[in-house]
Amino acid sequence: MSKMRCPYCSNDNSQVRDSRSSEDHTAIRRRRFCEQCGSRFTTYERIQLRDLVIIKTNDQKEVFDRDKMFRSISLALRKRNIDQEIIEKIVNAIVRKLENSGETEIKSNLIGEYIMDALSRLDQVAYVRFASVYKNFREVKDFEDFLDNLEEK
Ligand SMILES: [Zn+2]
Repeated sequence: MSKMRCPYCSNDNSQVRDSRSSEDHTAIRRRRFCEQCGSRFTTYERIQLRDLVIIKTNDQKEVFDRDKMFRSISLALRKRNIDQEIIEKIVNAIVRKLENSGETEIKSNLIGEYIMDALSRLDQVAYVRFASVYKNFREVKDFEDFLDNLEEK
């Protein structure tokens, strides 16, 4: 079994306590336990179909980072009492959409739209949080317009 560094104390020896397929069988989920600090964390092993490249709004390219997307969604959902499994499902669904598109280069704002779409159905607070960062509101007015649109929904 390959070793995985503990994200809390950086100890290299974590033990796998439980290993099982995710609900849709696209990943293997491992519950790990750090011998040094006692933290528990989860890792996922999955097939990388191909490397997706993201084209950012400033035209710079970067390799798509699944974990980064997971973190940004988690951040929007902070203290909203949403299970990690649900975030995993959202991320999986978006990745599948991107892979099924057949494109190898994807514009970052398309991913932003997908995330906002998923959050709008899951949690309105998280949606506004994500959107306010993502849309990078320059003026308070922009944000108010956005909230108006939200209420009309
Ligand atoms: Zn640790």
